[in-house]
Amino acid sequence: MKKFLSVLLLIVMVFSMAACSSSTGGSGDKGFVGIAMPTKSSERWISDGKYMKKEFEKRGYKVDLQYAEDVVENQVSQIENMITKGVNILVIASIDGEALTNVLEKAHKQKIKVIAYDRLIKKTPYVDYYATFDNFKVGVQQGSYIEEKLGLKDGKGPFNIELFAGSPDDNNAYFFFDGAMSILKPYIESGKLVVGSGQTKFEQAATLRWDGATAQSRMDNLLSAHYSTKKVDAVLSPYDGISIGILSSLKGVGYGSAGKPLPVVTGQDAELASVKSIIAGEQTQTVFKDTRKLAKQAVDMAEAVLKGKKAEVNDTKTYDNGKKVVPSYLLQPVSVDKTNYKAELVDSGYYTENELNK
Ligand code: BGC
Repeated sequence: MKKFLSVLLLIVMVFSMAACSSSTGGSGDKGFVGIAMPTKSSERWISDGKYMKKEFEKRGYKVDLQYAEDVVENQVSQIENMITKGVNILVIASIDGEALTNVLEKAHKQKIKVIAYDRLIKKTPYVDYYATFDNFKVGVQQGSYIEEKLGLKDGKGPFNIELFAGSPDDNNAYFFFDGAMSILKPYIESGKLVVGSGQTKFEQAATLRWDGATAQSRMDNLLSAHYSTKKVDAVLSPYDGISIGILSSLKGVGYGSAGKPLPVVTGQDAELASVKSIIAGEQTQTVFKDTRKLAKQAVDMAEAVLKGKKAEVNDTKTYDNGKKVVPSYLLQPVSVDKTNYKAELVDSGYYTENELNK
């Protein structure tokens, strides 16, 4: 009987261990982390989620990682589920930065801490820290790239340009646009840059949910309405997925052929398709934000919070979410084009040469 009972106990133990590790991975000794990511439709968020999960699990945390496919209601209910499952901390890259007020109030009532990941969560006091990149600088790098490529500092011009911005429900989109316009606006005012469509305001340039197809059809319209007799020399694009849409539109009306070169097209995230496009001489630039570094920063922050310590921050002024200034850690973005992609992306191990040349 005794033997039978100990065998039974062993079987139960083995099964419960297997169930535990297959559902979430990680021993969970240190705590339970809910990670809410916006979408798998862009590679960067897949990498962010993957790196964070790995790092948390390595340090002994249990992880629940969810993607909401850019549907705000999905993200809210995923976070609600995480609260019900008993997470100790939430790491959230929001879809709509203003849509989480109620759910984070619920989290607060359960004493769950919150880290905003890459995107600021607005209109709630219940966000403890923010891990991101210097978002204004991302825009400055995009604007400066156009300035340099066109030779604007040397007095060249006038050139034709069109402007695209990111999603109006993402706080970052304003920082990127403002950063880029801090460089481009003086040239627009002096007439060295001409926005053929006249659409220079954020609201006119915005692209809901950063959708490449939406950007492509706006570019189609801009080209047919304003560029039948002139050519576009530069396009400010805030994100690689948008850049790919813009490039399809341009190629559709003959850009990229002899006598009609593609304009300078910026981007962001160093996504695989865009880096390949840069190597092929189509997209001109992207901004590399190393998701491995951001993931590690967020895990460090979460760990400090869970241990009741202060997390490391380097900015306590910039990110006012309407309820509080959220203490932040800003990492540095890097402008990448054909001349430095190897040093930045291959030598750092972000991509292999093989992945880029397939
Ligand atoms: C991120 C960018 C990304 C964009 C679209 C922004 O919040 O900071 O890296 O390109 O969302 O996913």
